[in-house]
Amino acid sequence: MIRTIDTVIIGGGLHGLSCALQLARRGVSVAILERRWIGRHASTANAGGVRTLNRDLRELDLTLTSLKMWRVLDEFLGENCGFQQIGQIRIAENPTEFAHEARRINNLQQAGYTHEEMLDKASLYRLLPSLAPHCSGASYAKGDGAADPHLTVNAYRRAAESAGVLLLEGHGVNALASEGLEWRVDTDYGSFLTASVVIAAGAWSPALARLAGEIVPASVKASMMIVTEQVSEFPGPVIGCVGAALSLKQTRTGSLLIGGGLQGQANVERERTRVDFHALATGMSTPLRLFPQLAGVRIARCWTGIEARTPDDLPIIGPSSRLPGILYCYGFSGHGFALVPVVGAVIADMIVGETPTHEKWPVSALSIERFEHRKEDSDERYRQHG
Ligand SMILES: Cc1cc2nc3c(=O)[nH]c(=O)nc-3n(C[C@H](O)[C@H](O)[C@H](O)COP(=O)(O)OP(=O)(O)OC[C@H]3O[C@@H](n4cnc5c(N)ncnc54)[C@H](O)[C@@H]3O)c2cc1C
Repeated sequence: MIRTIDTVIIGGGLHGLSCALQLARRGVSVAILERRWIGRHASTANAGGVRTLNRDLRELDLTLTSLKMWRVLDEFLGENCGFQQIGQIRIAENPTEFAHEARRINNLQQAGYTHEEMLDKASLYRLLPSLAPHCSGASYAKGDGAADPHLTVNAYRRAAESAGVLLLEGHGVNALASEGLEWRVDTDYGSFLTASVVIAAGAWSPALARLAGEIVPASVKASMMIVTEQVSEFPGPVIGCVGAALSLKQTRTGSLLIGGGLQGQANVERERTRVDFHALATGMSTPLRLFPQLAGVRIARCWTGIEARTPDDLPIIGPSSRLPGILYCYGFSGHGFALVPVVGAVIADMIVGETPTHEKWPVSALSIERFEHRKEDSDERYRQHG
């Protein structure tokens, strides 16, 4: 059976859901094709951090817009996503790191940004009284926070279904071919004819682009997370640290959720991951140095998630420069949860085409065109070797 629909979105993670919801609310008919089940991969494996702190300048404006959208997301979706504005902090453990952060924030402020501030030693210890005594200060974004990835996936799912999105789980896309001005998208359970295809398939996006006939850049991240047993009251903001992979916060149940980019192993083809216990043990030296009272706290669970990483650690958002009708939304490189509300709106505007997107959204630095020179090399290899 071949069905005709305005837009097909490949991948039922948070980005696919956000794009679908925004499109459906603009009157576009949409199907999400998800190979496993909604939220199967990075969208539920993540730490839920919503961070503008220390963001790359090329995606900062977009992230600040997304943060505003997070603040009203429960209302937009009609359900609670667990977003809490608890702030995010980046601790400088010595004067050199403190000076580095102070310079960074000074530059930001000179460029007109006010979302980050420096905390001197006294202010830092007022905020985190149980922190080990050696630290010098911190950078701090008090408007940042964190949400609950599972609540967020469920809320997006129900909002998308209510808006009329056709949501098909167990529908892996195995072929993509242009037919005149349209694309034909094949799964084992049927095919679709559509004017536009959004590839939002996380770490598997390059494989799908290849089905359509384009080589796109990406490698893989396999970030690890830990949940501890419940601990007594632990202070407010999401805690990071200059020069170390750390993100630490207390969940509503009292456990600590610790991540920050420590890498495990991933087998993308088999969709399998493995925790690297050696790397995990080494990485835990940072939270133990900052909070020695955590020694002896037991780990309840740990896992590794799979996510696409681009050469510059920034996502690829927008149309293919070579294949009309194909749009990319992937490569969030470990920090795409924070961008979910805004990226869906950007992609939907690109497809509906009401306002020239570059006038409305600050995404020109995130176009795939920034990798054109690399792609020419890869395309040549593809032509030669298939
Ligand atoms: C451990 C970890 C911690 C993180 N912490 C944070 C954080 O604190 N803050 C933050 O901002 N970001 C964080 N991230 C990043 C964030 O989780 C991701 O950027 C985001 O979830 C990406 O969502 P997605 O929808 O693009 O991808 P995914 O959720 O991976 O969804 C892609 C979907 O595509 C489907 N798919 C693949 N191939 C096909 C096919 N052929 N046909 C149909 N469907 C297919 C997959 O099954 C999957 O469901 C973290 C990531 C990890 C792994």
